[in-house]
Amino acid sequence: METFKGIPVSPGIAIGRVFIFDDFRQRVPRRVVADNQVEHEKARLGGAIEAAEGELAKLSEEAAERLGPESAKIFGFHQQMLSDRTVREPILHRIDQEQVTAEFAVQEQFRWLADMFAQMDDSTFRTKVDDVWDVERRLLRHLIGEHQSSLDKLDGPAIVLSRDLTPSQAAAFQGKEVKGFGTDLGGLTSHTAIFARALRIPAVVGLERLSEVAEDRDPVIIDGDRGVVILHPDDETKESYRGYIAQGEALALTLAELSDVACETRDGVRVKLMGNIEFADEASDVLDVGGDGIGLFRTEFLWLTSDHEPSEEEQYEAYTRCVELAEGRDVVLRTFDLGADKYTQERAMTPERNPFLGCRSIRYCLQNLDMFRRQLRAMLRASNHGKLKIMFPLVSHLMELRQAKMILHDVMEDLTDEGIEFDPRIPVGMMVEVPSAAMMASSFAKEVDFLSIGTNDLVQYTLAVDRTNERVQGLYTAAHPAVLKLVKDVIRAGRRQSREVSLCGEMAGEVEYSLLLVGLGLRTLSATPSRLPYLKRVIRSVDIGQCERLARTASSFDSHSQVTSYLRDQARKLIPDSLGGRSVDDAPA
Ligand code: PEP
Ligand code: MG
Repeated sequence: METFKGIPVSPGIAIGRVFIFDDFRQRVPRRVVADNQVEHEKARLGGAIEAAEGELAKLSEEAAERLGPESAKIFGFHQQMLSDRTVREPILHRIDQEQVTAEFAVQEQFRWLADMFAQMDDSTFRTKVDDVWDVERRLLRHLIGEHQSSLDKLDGPAIVLSRDLTPSQAAAFQGKEVKGFGTDLGGLTSHTAIFARALRIPAVVGLERLSEVAEDRDPVIIDGDRGVVILHPDDETKESYRGYIAQGEALALTLAELSDVACETRDGVRVKLMGNIEFADEASDVLDVGGDGIGLFRTEFLWLTSDHEPSEEEQYEAYTRCVELAEGRDVVLRTFDLGADKYTQERAMTPERNPFLGCRSIRYCLQNLDMFRRQLRAMLRASNHGKLKIMFPLVSHLMELRQAKMILHDVMEDLTDEGIEFDPRIPVGMMVEVPSAAMMASSFAKEVDFLSIGTNDLVQYTLAVDRTNERVQGLYTAAHPAVLKLVKDVIRAGRRQSREVSLCGEMAGEVEYSLLLVGLGLRTLSATPSRLPYLKRVIRSVDIGQCERLARTASSFDSHSQVTSYLRDQARKLIPDSLGGRSVDDAPA
């Protein structure tokens, strides 16, 4: 039995068998060839390198033409790697000495190269690891053909382990019998983690080298509550985990009883609980758990889960379906938040040096106006069917907001000219996810109908900590006094301008934080649907005065560890027993 500790990102427990998802790295078994085949293997290698070089030359030329010389450089680096003697010769040497296949020799050499880059102190070199895998994949494709997505081979229930997962790879789990997943890389608020919560499957990330140690079909337990994965569990461990699963099911039944009661404190202060969703159909999940509406529809997932930009018609159908399923409740549609870790195939071709600081979200929309206009048209048309609101992500300059609103008005004029109906008074808001927007919240608030604080990004940009990098997760925390100060300032700015302020980062789904946020004055929280019953139970068990006192004290600390331990202590006193699930206990110390 071996236990691996990681970061719990989606609650629940699953017991099953391992399935290694290896679309990043194709595993080639070691195969020895006969003496007289060695030259043939070397010739195969030569052919593969030549074919790969031809492809790269073409790609580089196309990229230079379409996107400029800067983006062609990436292929230049790949070409250099292939022509480098220090890369080629060890492969030939291994074929000669060990009499192995060309593909196995390629795999071994590139694995060594990737490890070498990964261990370099200079981060510029560390980022080359993905390039190394890319060139390896290209060569292997020429040697052994197209690599099928390994998920195609998944033919029964399994717990998927992988080095990393992009949100679109995780999306491919839909319809498969994936009971849980664990990745070597990743952080709590990475989009893949968010996606796991939407799929309602337990997930743990930051497991370091687990996917290399584990083998297909190994027995495994994944504990998404405590952030643990146990390989080859013994019978006693399996038995106690079966007990936890039964307890969890009993708690879920108790929470289900709350779905029809309002979310208000004991002294009657109403708090709206909204759901964050990635797909239109999830709107009914929000209603099932007694949610007050959809506080955030991450529309970019429409694109991330398909191979093309969704057409205006496809979007119109999805937004209409969502607003109809919401049965008259508010639905906040966020315009495409593409870029950074949420990239499409097309965007993968134009890597950026600092993608989280690059052309993402509203910036990407404003540079791709046809796409942006198509989305706004679809949203406006859907506004005819219910209570829709439009929200712009990652606004950092007033100019961006004004430009986005100008385009929206332009699209409205087009629709009017075409005689197409829409809600002309559709509320327009923005996310507050970067410090500049939080610090200037009063100015922004004057120009929008509502603000929604996105702490997943606000934390990373305030603390300069990548939300997806497991190596710095110890520094990523919403309990940092600087983050709390910004959140407080935004709430205050909204109140002064009489604008609704909500919070839709993952922080809103943590029970202890919810008391703090209500105490700071928030009356709308938006979280993963499965968290809403927990939040409702907690909020219904306290008075507003208790929350306000808690918020005052928490705001007086100057370190995040004081804040987390205080919140934990208070939660023990105020919160009903055995609420289960994630809590600030699991936040980095
Ligand atoms: C956020 O940044 O807090 C947020 C809700 O947006 P996303 O997680 O989609 O980046
Ligand atoms: Mg965000």
